[in-house]
Amino acid sequence: MPMSAGFSRRVTPVLREAAEHFGTPFHLYDEQGIAATCARFNEAFSGLPYREYFAVKALPNPAVMEIMRRHGFGFDCSSLPELALARGVGASGADVFFTSNNTSREELAAAVGQSALINIDDPAVLAKLADHLGGSGLVDTLCLRVNPGATESSDQFLGSPQNAKFGIPPSRLTEAVNSARELGVRHFGLHMMVASNVLTTAPLVRTLDILLGLATDIRERTGVEIEFLNLGGGIGIPYRPGEQTFDLPALGRALRDRLTGWAAERNAVLPRLCFESGRYITGPHGVLVTSVLNRMSKWREYVGVDASMSSLMRPGMYSSAYHHITAPEARGRPSRTVDVVGSLCENSDKFGTDRELPELVEGDLLLVHDTGAHGHSMGFTYNGRLRPKELLLRPDGTVELIRRAEEQELDHFATLRFSPDRMSAPSPARPVTGTLSEVTAP
Ligand SMILES: *Cc1c(COP(=O)(O)O)cnc(C)c1O
Repeated sequence: MPMSAGFSRRVTPVLREAAEHFGTPFHLYDEQGIAATCARFNEAFSGLPYREYFAVKALPNPAVMEIMRRHGFGFDCSSLPELALARGVGASGADVFFTSNNTSREELAAAVGQSALINIDDPAVLAKLADHLGGSGLVDTLCLRVNPGATESSDQFLGSPQNAKFGIPPSRLTEAVNSARELGVRHFGLHMMVASNVLTTAPLVRTLDILLGLATDIRERTGVEIEFLNLGGGIGIPYRPGEQTFDLPALGRALRDRLTGWAAERNAVLPRLCFESGRYITGPHGVLVTSVLNRMSKWREYVGVDASMSSLMRPGMYSSAYHHITAPEARGRPSRTVDVVGSLCENSDKFGTDRELPELVEGDLLLVHDTGAHGHSMGFTYNGRLRPKELLLRPDGTVELIRRAEEQELDHFATLRFSPDRMSAPSPARPVTGTLSEVTAP
């Protein structure tokens, strides 16, 4: 969706200056927008025992994670660097969920060492945790990630969980609960995430219903009370103009009704509700700012920009991924239908195809919208195209560099060794003479 009116109003006065001062390309995030969404999230679930654990993979930057800390969020991590990032912003113990899959012993040890809430994805991982813990009783709270398997036809919006690599089938949950109890675990939660980028509340409400059903089963079979339910991430944002926005207050009301009804019926304590939302929290509050390098006419019309897929992978990776593109400074010029492309030697390196944009020339700035989640963090360095910088627009209008751009020597070549004499002095340019066979001869 085109960026919010507020973000647009805040970014317009600083855009050109930030581009000139820091150099393009960069992702720019809007602190005020992120903070407002954090507050709205908390508001939607107020009155319930609830906590959001921001999915660090969506935007792994301490400056942004600090904003979330101020709103009481915890962090959902799934790797050693993500655990370290959470530690780096002062999150510890139950502030951190560790939702990994295909987990290594080293990762389990780190999560136990940090007293994180561990989300177990498979009985094989539980067995490794048992090895690691021995009889120490160090872990007294555990979450079990569930995969409900093939869903009923009425649940088509849940996709096909039976083909997903995540989670424990319901038929193995009793066994998992019993093994965990032998380890000294006393407090249990269940996790399920089958929805991704959904714009309606139904898949999340259905997720809660499935988890409540499983909690009832577990109580009957083992006597264990499930104390918290983690609905994962997956709350979507409208990337295309005209798409509906997710009705968060409606989700809050629906979940509150379900939870209080379930608890009252069974005379049970209200389970705590957890989320690991990433995209919804930061997605709309970031833009990729990039400059036009070349205007090219081939079989199609192209605008080549100084960012590539290495800065934003979604359009190249998911054929259906759309990111809105605007050229605020070129408004009013006659429009053209163009493809906006980067410099990677891959034809999928396009930010948009068949876009109506004003006639653009070298140096014009383009904004690629909704890059605040799974944008920079999905970047890569294929073809020697390095990841760009990240800037944060503070509420007072100042723009802060919160991650520098990667550099060839410092970053890209840091893991390589060159023979020192070859790298130190570039050979002077000299005309190539002779025939091709002489030039390529050893
Ligand atoms: C990716 C992921 C999330 C975040 O998903 P969003 O779509 O960004 O909300 C949360 N939990 C888990 C386990 C994930 O893998």
